[in-house]
Amino acid sequence: MTATAPREEQLWSRCAGCATLLYRKRLRRNLDVCPECGVHARLGAPDRLRQLVDPNSFRPLPDSPADVDPIDFVDVVPYAHRLTAARAGTGLTEAVLCGTATLGGHPAVLAVMDFRFLGGSLGCAVGELITRAAERALDDRVPLILVTASGGARMQEGALSLMQMATVSQAIAALREAGLLTVSVLTDPTYGGVAASFATNTDVVIAESGARMGFAGPRVIRQVTGRALPDGFQTADFLLRHGQVDMVVPRRALRGRLVALLAAARAGQPRRAGAPAHRPPVPRQQPPHAAADATPAEVTDPWATVRLARHAGRPTTLDYLESAFDGFVELHGDRLGGDCPAMVGGLARLDGRPLMVIGHQKGHSTAELVARNFGMASPAGHRKALRLMRLAARLGLPVVTLVDTPGADPGIGAEEQGQAAAIAENILALTVLPTPVVAVITGEGGSGGALALAVADRVLMLQHAVYSVISPEGCAAILWPDRSAAPQAARALRLTAPDLHRLGVVDEIVPEPAAAAHDDPDAAAEALREAVRANLLPLLDVPPATLVRDRRQRFRRFGAARAGNRSGVR
Ligand SMILES: [Zn+2]
Repeated sequence: MTATAPREEQLWSRCAGCATLLYRKRLRRNLDVCPECGVHARLGAPDRLRQLVDPNSFRPLPDSPADVDPIDFVDVVPYAHRLTAARAGTGLTEAVLCGTATLGGHPAVLAVMDFRFLGGSLGCAVGELITRAAERALDDRVPLILVTASGGARMQEGALSLMQMATVSQAIAALREAGLLTVSVLTDPTYGGVAASFATNTDVVIAESGARMGFAGPRVIRQVTGRALPDGFQTADFLLRHGQVDMVVPRRALRGRLVALLAAARAGQPRRAGAPAHRPPVPRQQPPHAAADATPAEVTDPWATVRLARHAGRPTTLDYLESAFDGFVELHGDRLGGDCPAMVGGLARLDGRPLMVIGHQKGHSTAELVARNFGMASPAGHRKALRLMRLAARLGLPVVTLVDTPGADPGIGAEEQGQAAAIAENILALTVLPTPVVAVITGEGGSGGALALAVADRVLMLQHAVYSVISPEGCAAILWPDRSAAPQAARALRLTAPDLHRLGVVDEIVPEPAAAAHDDPDAAAEALREAVRANLLPLLDVPPATLVRDRRQRFRRFGAARAGNRSGVR
């Protein structure tokens, strides 16, 4: 873990990754990323700020740390002497530099830790400074960006340093309640008390390429377990695979990524702050954009529709994100240990308006389908979706879901990890989500896995999509002599768009190009975009409480319809 300390005064420095001798000016131009091997050298807080914020926009916060040595700690050197040496060595007063700045013109408060200062350790002063930075963000109603680099809590301050984890977390919680974006950027290394608090309890967690993050350091884990650690343990890519960070971003792309996040969060703000309480509800029975439902007359066999809905060429969620939306920034992970490839989501724009898009992801080739588990989400996938829905609501962004799944993952692992409860929690969360939700069944709407994304203010359905409580094969296996009766089951289940529109399960049918979406994916994307736009726009001005009330009524009416209208439906 010993890093080569950057020696500013020298003309040359040796890369910690490949040991190449590099001309410092060249290295500096390359943001201190080795041009030979790509290793990201550690940055001090002032250099980091220079790379991230708009030129000359940084204003340090006025707070200065009190001199604290709360427990008169002495090891081989008194703590006070260590502090003095750290100050002299870095030119900083503490292990964090806090201030206001703009990034791409968007205002933010930043707290940037500096590993050179006593290992970036979290003491009372650091905790206080970051807390004040968070409070400043709250006062200014701007996002907070934390750049972490720390070995953990500062031992020299005993249990009081441990308390800082709670102090700063409380400040993060206040920002969360206020709907203000918090982002942490994990840089190498981020460990211990910092990792287990504000480095990971923010809205979005970005890991810089090559950064390592963990609760316990590798040396401790090796000692405790007596085992060798796998290659790449606790590195950024490991964290991404295990669902603990939203993205891994190379240093040269970091600023751009932060600007995109700030832009999205800022756009959500005015609605949140300005939504009046007495706006008349939008008439809900009359879609502003009445689509193909007028002529469902073309009688196609539902089994043929099932096969169209499953067609390998049918556009996937990522296809639509590419074609019907702009500026997709994918967010990964459930923060608990998994990143489900069958569920994708993140920030995107529609007509320049930021929103959260979440959907099932299948694929076009067998390899893709296998890698995405055929669009069957795991509990981690449902928990990722839940995390993103809640994030959208906090930031005042509408949610668009794209549903295309044969069903939720029915595997053993999924059961062990609570698949049923994960789906249940999503359904519950969607019923009360205080932001507009538009769901589009784009392909297969299979059972509870589909509904986990489809409790929405408006439910749209592509013309040749299907939506059903069970697959025709599954239904046939249970109610018919065998699975070969799937075509009959498909007819009986009333799973086509016109059927579901008649039943009121679906509000609008989105027309597909002839013969179906896979024949002209661009036209399909355009139709989807138009339909989402037309259905979303009227929802944007509806106060959240009204939205939630209307959404509950929407789903309440199905029970009522069945009781009072038993003969009418069939
Ligand atoms: Zn190198």
